[in-house]
Amino acid sequence: MSRVLVIGCGGVAQVAIQKCCQNSAVFKELCIASRTKSKCDDLKNKLEGKTSTIVTTAQVDADNVEEVKALINSYKPDVVLNVALPYQDLTIMDACLACGVHYVDTANYEPEDTDDPEWRKIYEKRCKDLGFSAYFDYSWQWAYDQKFKDAGLTALLGTGFDPGVTSVFSAYALKHYFDEIHTIDILDCNGGDHGYPFATNFNPEVNLREVSAPGSYWEDGHWIEVPAMSIKREYDFPQVGKKDMYLLHHEEIEALAKNIPGVKRIRFFMTFGQSYLTHMKCLENVGMLSTTPINFNGHEIVPIQFLKALLPDPASLGPRTVGKTNIGCIFTGIKDGKEKTICIYNVCDHQECYKELGSQAISYTTGVPAMIGTALVANGIWNKRGTLTTDEFDPDPYMEMLTEFGLPWIVDENPATVE
Ligand code: NDP
Repeated sequence: MSRVLVIGCGGVAQVAIQKCCQNSAVFKELCIASRTKSKCDDLKNKLEGKTSTIVTTAQVDADNVEEVKALINSYKPDVVLNVALPYQDLTIMDACLACGVHYVDTANYEPEDTDDPEWRKIYEKRCKDLGFSAYFDYSWQWAYDQKFKDAGLTALLGTGFDPGVTSVFSAYALKHYFDEIHTIDILDCNGGDHGYPFATNFNPEVNLREVSAPGSYWEDGHWIEVPAMSIKREYDFPQVGKKDMYLLHHEEIEALAKNIPGVKRIRFFMTFGQSYLTHMKCLENVGMLSTTPINFNGHEIVPIQFLKALLPDPASLGPRTVGKTNIGCIFTGIKDGKEKTICIYNVCDHQECYKELGSQAISYTTGVPAMIGTALVANGIWNKRGTLTTDEFDPDPYMEMLTEFGLPWIVDENPATVE
């Protein structure tokens, strides 16, 4: 029975919190804290009478370590679930360390200000040393490993769907299906349609930074970087159909390359429609994806933040999104001396998610695993110490909870592969 502090109250948080409240046996008390407290109060009111979890709310600026520490010291949670933005990962980790509580998040650190010279120096060295140039990487959070170990604490990094479930699928495949895994292709397909010419399914700023970055994959012990959207494949996704997908850099590749012994190649593909790509290219060409502030009529504005203000709030897409997502991993390798290929995937229906929780499937497929990772840390089933990703624990209890809490998975032992 635990007391959990959730920071953030956006699209993903709304699902994670409602799922925590369906799991009152673990989540006895829960505080929802965010920058805009009215959103937390609205969600608390929506949950009234539907759960035996005791829900309270608070206001917090998670960019400010002292504010987060003060909130943790007054609420005294066992675990903090960070479902705010990746910009707040390090401040919340600092506060958790200072107060002696476990930490959980869904996305690895990236700075809000990519022009910060201190950060840029380290970033440029990392680009040269490792060979990929995305703004996000694990080095910042892995640097906390010894501190969390010394404090006897767990920092569970990246328990969304991808990263998160895709890494659990990898640990599960290794435990139950393979002696050696040689290749992993992670395929993220959103076959949903929200009817807008252009919108993103999660935080627009974070999403557009991710998909406009050069693509990269891991092969034979090193990164290979390619121009954004330059590797395209078509795949016939079960229950969705044929879609074009593009190779992206993605954070779980970094952790899987470290944790799956002998893996030779790891790639990540995401589906995009032509309209999305055309809009994105146009916005990029005119400078609207820039994170560098400009002066406009005496006001400093950051173009990508201004764009975020114009785009639909991802949390509002629920009622109008129809179709399904299909996210999973294709593994090849060896079992008992023979070559083997399997695919483990989940299919999620946007309208079913909306009926259950009022959210679209992208928030749903991220929020459910956020709850599961938090529950496993809170009840001590996942109890390794340090900064760890989901592939570093026993996958079985997580896989059972995926089915129990709305994300059942399928193992296909004869899947189509990606060339
Ligand atoms: P939203 O933009 O919908 O929500 C973010 C929330 O964080 C808002 O409630 C926002 O408050 C709050 N917030 C932002 N800054 C602060 C701050 N300084 N202090 C306190 N609260 C703050 O984002 P999403 O819900 O779409 O995404 C949440 C996280 O999930 C992101 O880190 C994203 O990268 C990750 N994600 C992970 C995926 C995965 O599969 N692993 C997939 C999709 C998303 P306000 O209401 O005031 O703006």
